[in-house]
Amino acid sequence: MPHLSASSQQLAAQSVIWAENSLLTEWFTYGREQLPYEACGALFGRRAADGWLLTGWRGINNAAVNPEEQFTLDPLQWVPLVMKQSVCMPGDEQLLGVFHTHPAAAPIPSAADLQTTWHALPCHAIISFCSPGKPLAAFYRYTRASGDISLQFEPYTLKLL
Ligand SMILES: [Zn+2]
Repeated sequence: MPHLSASSQQLAAQSVIWAENSLLTEWFTYGREQLPYEACGALFGRRAADGWLLTGWRGINNAAVNPEEQFTLDPLQWVPLVMKQSVCMPGDEQLLGVFHTHPAAAPIPSAADLQTTWHALPCHAIISFCSPGKPLAAFYRYTRASGDISLQFEPYTLKLL
């Protein structure tokens, strides 16, 4: 077994997203309602011993010029939300990340997704409607090695409550 550095041990210990099934169901419904456009929005959560507890989400208008293929968080909704969340205490609900949907692609970050300015947020989720009746959600952490231009992504494990 390869030796893990302290930081990767730390990451491995924080690799779970816990979520209520009912929350996911409402979230999927929202994404389905926006088809054929990509839906996008914010995720909220609290720290858990092994990762994060997903406590909520909020849809944000997709302001992209071609919303069938891209998403742009409408700054009129997104910026005030980021400002409000910038001060928070440990244990509080906080801005956990960004989500968007892939109307017809797998839930894997695209090259454009990895250009995001918001890579420092703990979580980026993608809901895929490849099979519209059976949406698939995937959660990632985007990371950038120092000196590296491109972002990498690592999956979280989704565990249902
Ligand atoms: Zn995408």
